[in-house]
Amino acid sequence: MEYIQLNNGIKMPSIGFGVYQIPLLMTKQCVLDALAIGYRHIDTARNYGNEREVGEALIDSGISRAEIFLTTKIYGADSYRQACQYIDEALNKLQTKYIDLMLFHWPSGNITETYRAMEDYYKAGKLKAIGLSNFFIHDFNTVISSCTIIPMVNQVEAHIFHQRKVFQKDMNQYGIKLEAWSPLACGKNNIFGNLILEKIAKSHRKSTAQVALRFLNQKGIAIIPKSIHKDRIKENWEIFDFELTNDEMKEIELLDCDCSLFSWYE
Ligand code: NAD
Repeated sequence: MEYIQLNNGIKMPSIGFGVYQIPLLMTKQCVLDALAIGYRHIDTARNYGNEREVGEALIDSGISRAEIFLTTKIYGADSYRQACQYIDEALNKLQTKYIDLMLFHWPSGNITETYRAMEDYYKAGKLKAIGLSNFFIHDFNTVISSCTIIPMVNQVEAHIFHQRKVFQKDMNQYGIKLEAWSPLACGKNNIFGNLILEKIAKSHRKSTAQVALRFLNQKGIAIIPKSIHKDRIKENWEIFDFELTNDEMKEIELLDCDCSLFSWYE
């Protein structure tokens, strides 16, 4: 297992299994499949409506809780009290005494009060790490200027077409690790048929998906690919037995369009 060390010393597996938009009835089985393959990092959210199924899978897997890195997210609450309620509900649905990483899903509600509640649960040991998702300049600064605990992670859209070179450097200055959502670009831009990726994949006897994920991994970005198919979940996991050369990394760097593939984003 490969880890990324967060600014509080916690080690986060560099690859996780994302469960957004997995049909509810399939969620538990998909998480069980991922755990059986070897994943020890699961990424869910209040907003996905499947924390209960994720929690059930973790228990049914029989794997010790300490071996699993569990991420969930809350969106902005209107008050400190409501934020505490959101966190309590997550702990309850996931049937766990603590959450490894709680992210503030996107800027909304009362940002400072929501983050303050996250800090207090962190101090109480119920959240082992806290961070942000989809926080850019203005909202990011709102948190930074009022927080007592620097976020450990910022999870944003990132993939070979939106590589976040400058943003990663900006986050690094604060000791904040970048985590990529939609690391496979959600299949957009014909990523799986990309000619550059195909050429590189062929030379390593790997798939285009594996090359796209390995690229982010070699850049030090955490990844949380999603699939409902066991063979693809396994394929996405098997990215540590080859290495992209500097030239290959440079070729893939040229694919960066530096903009979102989601019209509603940024
Ligand atoms: P992704 O980039 O992981 O792409 C998923 C899609 O790619 C799948 O639905 C499947 O169609 C295809 N796919 C996956 N593996 C493949 C393979 N090996 N070969 C061919 N096709 C393959 O996109 P995503 O699901 O949007 O993002 C991953 C995770 O990121 C989510 O499940 C969620 O946990 C997280 N996420 C977070 C936010 C946020 O706001 N924080 C937003 C979106 C997603």
